[in-house]
Parts: sequence; C-alpha cells; structure tokens
Amino acid sequence: MLTEFCEANAVPYQRCGKVIIGTDDTDLARLAALFERGKANGVAGLELIGSERLREIEPHARGIRALHCPTTAIVDFRRVAEAMAAQLVRSGVLIRRADPVVCVRRSGGALVLETRNGSPVEAGSLINCAGLHSDSVARMTGVAPDVRIIPFRGEYYVVRRDRSLVHALIYPVPDPSFPFLGVHFTRRITGEIEAGPNAVLAFAREGYRKRDVQVAESLGMLAYRGFWAMGSRYWRMGLEEMYRSFSRRSFVRALQRLVPDLSDEDVTPGGSGVRAQAVAPDGTLVDDFRIVETPDALHVLNAPSPAATASLAIGRHIAGIAMRSFGLRGYRC
Ligand SMILES: Cc1cc2nc3c(=O)[nH]c(=O)nc-3n(C[C@H](O)[C@H](O)[C@H](O)COP(=O)(O)OP(=O)(O)OC[C@H]3O[C@@H](n4cnc5c(N)ncnc54)[C@H](O)[C@@H]3O)c2cc1C
Repeated sequence: MLTEFCEANAVPYQRCGKVIIGTDDTDLARLAALFERGKANGVAGLELIGSERLREIEPHARGIRALHCPTTAIVDFRRVAEAMAAQLVRSGVLIRRADPVVCVRRSGGALVLETRNGSPVEAGSLINCAGLHSDSVARMTGVAPDVRIIPFRGEYYVVRRDRSLVHALIYPVPDPSFPFLGVHFTRRITGEIEAGPNAVLAFAREGYRKRDVQVAESLGMLAYRGFWAMGSRYWRMGLEEMYRSFSRRSFVRALQRLVPDLSDEDVTPGGSGVRAQAVAPDGTLVDDFRIVETPDALHVLNAPSPAATASLAIGRHIAGIAMRSFGLRGYRC
C-alpha cells in the first residue's frame, strides 16, 4: 500500500533490499522461521542464502547464513507524511500542528479538547494516536489504560561513506527473548548510512538528547509498578545499553558482529529517535498493537515498528473499528 501511495503522490522510494544475518547456530532456526513467515505473508523474492552469496550482496558483512529480501524499500518518511497531510487538507481535514491537547472534558454529550495554544475542539468522537503521549491523552478522557508508555531513546551513528562498508540494509536476527531488535545498518534515501539504534531509558517522553529531563514525567515513570518489574527483568540489558550510549567502542563492537571491518574511526555520532514503548504492570514490553475502545473514543496505545511502513494498513484497520464502534455510516475505508 505504501509503495502504491508513493507512486501516486510522486514520493521517491528505493528498493534497495535487506539482509538479515545469522552469526551463530542459535540464529539458524530463527532465520528459517522468519523465512517461512515471510513466504506465508507473500513477501516476493525472499531467499535463504549462504556466506558466499551474502558477500556478493554485502562484501563487508559476515555471517553463516542470511535471509535476503530484495523487495525491501526505503523512503524519506517526512515526504510520506507531507503527502498524506496534503491529501487530507485537500479533502477538507483541518490539521493543527504544534498545539497539543492538554485536557479533555465532556459537555452536553460532546468531547471538548482543550489545546495549549488554540481554541478548544468539540468532537462527537475521538481517535487518539498520540504516540509517546497516547496513555496520557487516554487518561484525560477518563480511561485508565492497562499499560504505561515508557520512552526509550534510540541513538544512531553515521557511517563514513568513502569505505563503502555497507550498501543497503543489514540487520541481525531478532532474538524473541529481548525486547529490542539490536543495532543494525540502514541506508537512507540520501545515501547516508546510519548505524543503530541502541535503546536507552529516556527521562522525558520527548527525550531526544541525553540532557533532556522532565521531572514530572520521570516521577510518573518511577511511580509505576510496571517500570520496576521491567527493570528486574531487563536490568542487565539496560545497563549494557547505557554503557553503549556513552562508549563508542562498545557501540562499534556490537556493530562489528555484522560488519567486522568497521572501526571506531568509521563512525560519527548521528541523530536519535524516541520509541514509545507500552509496558504492562508486570513489566512485559507490549510488542503488538494495543487499541482500547470506549463508546466515544479509540485509543491507540501501542503502535510499534513497523507502524510507519504499515501506516496505511493500520489506518484502514483503525477506521474500520471507528466506523463500527461510533456507528458511522456512509464512509469508505
Ligand atoms: C528510532 C526509531 C526508528 C524507527 N524505524 C522505523 C522504521 O524503519 N519503519 C517503521 O515502520 N517504523 C519505524 N519506527 C516506528 C514508528 O516510528 C512508529 O511505530 C510510528 O511512528 C507510530 O505511529 P503513531 O502514529 O502511533 O505515533 P507517532 O508517529 O509518534 O505520532 C504521534 C503524533 O501525536 C502527536 N501528539 C502527541 N501528543 C499529543 C497531544 N497531547 N495532542 C496532540 N497531538 C499529540 C505527536 O506530535 C505526533 O505527531 C521507528 C521508531 C523509532 C523510535
């Protein structure tokens, strides 16, 4: 759906392909399972390959076996979002940017959304897709969500391009017992190669920099029992990630599992993103979608990666729930 959208809206994308690399015997069964799942989902051109074929595709990558997906594509998601916004505005939708909802009250059967800067918005029903703040917005409507968003900053390095160490996308095999995928290499549509991200606990929901701290948000996090339950499960991994956040050498060592020729001098600090991780009271990191329905609102409390790639399909799914839940008729989705 996304590639069709890009073509229809002149948003450039590149089918650069991806390799997912198994580096030890424990990865082999997981690679085989990924291959089967990909085939069952109709992913075209998937192939399990050996180390020689891997070297043809990514000469500097090393592994004992890999899954090659030649149809994987990259896009500048800002361009996608802008094209979506333009289409919405053309069809009469009002978009208010940089004007967060700070309070929701009910008045005469309607929801009234107070925002920080503009006039209040009155609505018959609400779809809350507020990402890092989705649980807070749900609470504003009187819902007590069974999860809390804990922010994890993902920090990237940029890889020197002149040594051509990475052509396209190089990923490790995900380990289901760990919550995050692990560092990998991604080519951006500009040709820049990114390496990362790690996953470090952030002390602000918009904690894009190490120094970003929001006291109230941090206290809310510390008061949540799921936070401590998560800590007791994953403390070792958390400490490793924090160490990696401050030690370039350790970050590079993790990347060298996939590309051994990479050295400290090949990378420079890059940007970061913050992952909105929904955490259950028992410390479980929710790894699937979590949508809560009430008579006048839908709350999308967890939309993990690849929710950007799958945004059109997810949007259609959410619109379907909204039509049923809010009794809307006459709309097409
Ligand atoms: C480092 C990183 C890399 C990723 N890479 C990929 C990838 O390669 N492919 C992929 O598919 N996915 C990727 N993802 C995941 C993807 O970004 C998310 O799954 C997706 O953005 C979730 O969409 P969303 O609409 O739920 O939330 P968001 O995209 O976070 O959107 C939430 C929106 O709500 C707004 N908002 C928040 N609070 C309020 C409020 N109070 N009032 C009004 N508006 C509010 C925000 O400003 C924002 O615009 C990545 C995520 C991270 C962190």
